[in-house]
This record gives sequence, structure tokens and C-alpha cells, in this order.
Amino acid sequence: MKSGGGAAEECDILVVGGGPAGSTAAALLAERGRDVVLLEKDSHPRFHIGESLLPRNTAIFDRLGLRDQVAAMGVHKPGAEFVSDATGQQVRYAFADGLDKVFTSSWQVPRAAFDDLLFRTAAARGTRVAEQTRVTEVRFGAPRAQVTALGADGAPRHFAPRYVLDASGRDTLLANRLGSKQANKRNTTAALFAHYHGVERRGGELEGFISIHLVEDGWFWLIPLPDDVMSVGFVGNQAAFKGHRGTPEQLFATRLAASPSVSARMRGAKAISGVTSTGNFSYAADSCWGEGYAMIGDSFAFIDPVFSSGVLLAMSAGEMGAEVADAWLNDPALGRARARRMERDLRHAMGRISWLIYRINTPALRHLFMAPSNKLRMRDGLVSLLAGNLRGSRDTMLPVLAFKGVYHLMSLALRLGLPVGAPPPRQAA
Ligand SMILES: Cc1cc2nc3c(=O)[nH]c(=O)nc-3n(C[C@H](O)[C@H](O)[C@H](O)COP(=O)(O)OP(=O)(O)OC[C@H]3O[C@@H](n4cnc5c(N)ncnc54)[C@H](O)[C@@H]3O)c2cc1C
Repeated sequence: MKSGGGAAEECDILVVGGGPAGSTAAALLAERGRDVVLLEKDSHPRFHIGESLLPRNTAIFDRLGLRDQVAAMGVHKPGAEFVSDATGQQVRYAFADGLDKVFTSSWQVPRAAFDDLLFRTAAARGTRVAEQTRVTEVRFGAPRAQVTALGADGAPRHFAPRYVLDASGRDTLLANRLGSKQANKRNTTAALFAHYHGVERRGGELEGFISIHLVEDGWFWLIPLPDDVMSVGFVGNQAAFKGHRGTPEQLFATRLAASPSVSARMRGAKAISGVTSTGNFSYAADSCWGEGYAMIGDSFAFIDPVFSSGVLLAMSAGEMGAEVADAWLNDPALGRARARRMERDLRHAMGRISWLIYRINTPALRHLFMAPSNKLRMRDGLVSLLAGNLRGSRDTMLPVLAFKGVYHLMSLALRLGLPVGAPPPRQAA
């Protein structure tokens, strides 16, 4: 690749950002013989949040030939456990109970190693990769765009790709430039998180499960990682942070202490990282594509992480974005049709999971979650959603519709003050 103020380096596709979305797209395009450049502003391996994966992700690992490497670096995850501070209830959802009997478990991974693996895979398949190289400017034009990036030495580098895939994550490079990013007003939450040693891990049937502890104004995640590391995070709505001053460490300590179920597990815990905070984090761009480009993964949209859907959505978008770019290079009309389909599929998938996210703090959904009924296979349908079957299928349609119907009836009953049934007995951990 040429650098400095010289002639621009030509390529078929330039991918901005070497996270799960960008590395997946680059690997698949290079595999097809496309000339791909992948630019990453950071250096792998580097920390990233988003460590709990979903069973449906395994299909993409298989496509990339990475299932064994992911399994070797992670903690096996057979399901998700939900704990309610308000009622003391615990409920477990094993992925094996879902309607999908092909992918029945997943893993929880240190993202530094996971993202490094994906990035190296893209390079091994023939992508020209550069780290510590931040894209600063994208100008669209036919037949080639002009992309400027700054390398570690501060010198500009110029590229002339025929197609651009923006996989810049929450930096949302193109959506910011285009002014098309819209905050999601239905989900104005913020998060605090850190890594610990010595947090009580679940054993027995719950070994490897992610724990989601529901509190009044938000929820905690406890994600078991290798080497006795536990990723602990809190996601809360605006009320959860109102009136608090002090450092993220102080605020997190206050939140942890206020949850009886979490603080009980943290008694012997030692922080091994600082506390990170991130605010107002759900958004979407008006559209995920335009003439000569597409946005994939978090660069297009981000939804609340309560159901660990981010990496699956990002890698799925990486697959779709690769299809779109490849089609576009063959025939822009076909590329447009594929891009429209990608937009529809991504919005549909996010809509399915958002339905649950928007209602997670409502009494009716919490009641249904903590006391799942399997009439009409509602629980199994819910498990399929939690396992990442976000596209929907005939099998899941009826159970999911039934679940939503019961939710609406229960909301009405609660509004009218009618009895909705006693909470179920505690389950042993
Ligand atoms: C609090 C929180 C908890 C989460 N928990 C989970 C979870 O448990 N499970 C889950 O699946 N998901 C989780 N997520 C979501 C998950 O982190 C993301 O959805 C996922 O990482 C998206 O992948 P991506 O490739 O789109 O973006 P990223 O992983 O963010 O990758 C983008 C890459 O682009 C690079 N980049 C940015 N700008 C530029 C530029 N200008 N030039 C070059 N490079 C650039 C960045 O350095 C980065 O490496 C969580 C998110 C948050 C905020």
C-alpha cells in the first residue's frame, strides 16, 4: 500500500474497522477473490465489551472454519439465568430447550482474543490489513471513492476503493458524516462495567450460564470468562443514574451494593480493571446503505445488550454486507436489490429482539420471564429468540405470537388490578 501524499492505492472494497462485522465481511470477500483492504484504528489484541455470544453465531463460525478456536478460548455457555431482586426468583433458560436443535449452546469469550482471531482470519484469507490506521475522510464518487486514513506515524494514506463497507462500530463514521444517526428514544440507557477475580461462579446445571440480575431500574450481567475472570456490568435507565456524582468506580460500587443478589456473589471479588462507562447507547442510522457503500454492525445500529445479540447481529451484517458489496461490483442494480434486502432483514431481526428489550422493565414481562409457561411452546419459542433465531421461522411464529398475546393480556390485567398468579417458587442455583 502506498502512503504519504502519493497516488491512491486502488482496491475493490475498503472496510473501515476490524471488529466482528468488518473482519467477517473482509474474510468472506477475500475468500471470493476480491481485493480487500481492512483498516483498523487500534491494534489487536485490544479490549472490547460484548463477551457473551449466542448459539446462532456458531453457523457463522462454521462458515469461517473457526468453531474450534472460539470454543478453545471461551467458557462454554449452555444458557441464560435471570434473577429478580424484587421477588428473589431465579429462572434458567437452557438453549437446548429451544425449538432449534442444531445450535444449542454458545461461548463467552475474552473479546481481545476473539477479535484478534477474526482479524487474523481476514488477513489469512487474503485481505490487506493495516492496524493503527484511522480512516478520517470518505468521499464518494464513481467509479471510485476516495478514502484518507492516518497511520501510526501520523502520515496520511490514500485509497481508491470501488465500494466502502463501514464497520466502525459505535464510532458510526458514515452515519455521523451523513447526519443520519438517530438516538433511540425508547431505550435511553447507559452502562458501567469492569472485570473481577473471585466472583462467585455458578456450578452444577448453571455452570457457564450468563446471569442477568434484574433490579428495579435496570439489570446486571455476570459473564464467566476463563481464568476466574468475571465480566460484571450494569445497564440502567436515566432514573438509575440521576443525582449521582463521583467517579464511575464510586457509582458502580453504589449500584453493586444496592443489589442484594449481585453483592452476595461479589463478596470476595477483586477488581482487575478500571470501570468503564458508556451512555445513551441505542441508535440507528436512517438507512444502512447508499450508492457505493453500506454500514454493517454497530456502525448502522445498536440495540440494548441485555440479550447478548450484538456480535451475532454484527457478524450476520458482515455476511450480508459481503453479499451486497460483491453483487454491487458485478452489477450496481443487483447490489441495490441486495442492499434493500439486507436493510429489511436487519431491521426485522432487531425488531424481534427489541420487542423484548423495550418491555424488559415492565411488570408484565418480568412476571412472564420469571414464571415461563410452556403452553403452546411459548417458553421454547422464547428460548429460540434468546438463542439468536432472529430471522424467525414457521416453528417459532406461533409460540412467539402466543407469548406476545399473553404479555398484552397480562399488562391489561395488571393495569386493572386483577390477580395474575402467584410468583413461582425459587429455583436452586
Ligand atoms: C455495555 C455493552 C455490553 C455489551 N454486551 C454484549 C454481549 O454480551 N454480547 C454481544 O454479542 N454483544 C454485546 N455488546 C455489543 C457488542 O459489543 C457490539 O455489538 C459488537 O462489538 C459490534 O461489532 P462491530 O464489528 O460492529 O463493532 P466493534 O466491535 O465496535 O468494531 C469496530 C471497530 O472499528 C474500529 N474503528 C472505529 N472507527 C474507525 C476508523 N475511523 N478507522 C478505522 N477503524 C475504526 C474500532 O477500533 C473497532 O475495532 C455490548 C455492547 C455494550 C455497549
